Amino acid sequence: MSELKDMKIMIFPSKYIQGDGAITFLPEIMEKYGDKPLVVATRSMVDTANKLMAGKGKVLKFGGECSRNEIDRIKGIATEMDATAIAAIGGGKPIDACKVAADELNIPIIVAATIAATDAPTSGCAVVYTDEGVYVKVLYQKHNPDVVLIDTDVILKAPVRFLISGMGDALATFFEANSCERSGSLSECFGLRTKTALALSKLCLDMLLKHGRQSVKDAKKGVKSEAVESIIEANTLLSGIGFESGGLGSAHSVANGLTELPATHHLYHGEKVAFGVLTGLQLYDELGIVDEIFDFCVDIGLPVSFEDLGIPKATDDEIFKVAESCYKYNFMSHEPIDVDIDKIIAAMKKTDEIGSAKKLAKGK
Ligand SMILES: [Zn+2]
Repeated sequence: MSELKDMKIMIFPSKYIQGDGAITFLPEIMEKYGDKPLVVATRSMVDTANKLMAGKGKVLKFGGECSRNEIDRIKGIATEMDATAIAAIGGGKPIDACKVAADELNIPIIVAATIAATDAPTSGCAVVYTDEGVYVKVLYQKHNPDVVLIDTDVILKAPVRFLISGMGDALATFFEANSCERSGSLSECFGLRTKTALALSKLCLDMLLKHGRQSVKDAKKGVKSEAVESIIEANTLLSGIGFESGGLGSAHSVANGLTELPATHHLYHGEKVAFGVLTGLQLYDELGIVDEIFDFCVDIGLPVSFEDLGIPKATDDEIFKVAESCYKYNFMSHEPIDVDIDKIIAAMKKTDEIGSAKKLAKGK
């Protein structure tokens, strides 16, 4: 008998709108779903949200954490006003909290991302934390967001580090999807991969390598360009579709393992993932591309050494702790080769060695 996990499965957001001024379409879009919109905005976007909605429906300030309490608070207000749809304006946490609230209330969810650093805008899953910010679990929604709005102008107003971090996360997309395909592992929507998912994850990598460096130069000057638009698309749409319908592997295992060390807590998710990509390529590099990826990371400012990670004098105990923690998350077993703790430790040390030498050679 067939099981769902034996099927090729692919999931997408229903509509994706990217460009200068995209957020101004929010009231018009919300109106299509009904006359009682609830907009949840991150603190810095509350004024913008109020101006945009001009008294239509309700604007709520996000509480700061994607926790069960905050999700229930949003649900309570939505229920009280009989909301016809929920919109989230902000980064990963408000987006995730609203995705869960709308899913549990069975009403549409519209997402307006203010940074291009995470996969949250397009995905159909959300990471839930305690009120204090400790990881609890991932919740899966019945479907991905109804509409995703990415406003180039808004993204460019955020610090460039978010865009760079997003590239670190996006950098993992092809390698992890490819590893899952080779090992026959399940994707993050719990199925096998379509050719479409694999092709999009490769497009993601190609776009990063082609436009990544230029996008950083342009974004630092606040210049809207083809490079910036391409990287916003790679970081949000391609990376989002790619990780969900492609799968995760060693890069996210190492990134999650690094969270065991408090000294790395200042890093964004994608920055840790970038170091995970480089470590993973020491273990399995089908394309023979590791040197090119090192150069890319050094050039755009992603971490390539223990020093970059905030652990310049990493001890063997600390490295062991990270390597051991890689197994807390099942993704390491998605690699098509035999991996053990010793191999991960060796790969991390090699990455630090090569990365440090590259930085020295490039005078960074
Ligand atoms: Zn990620």
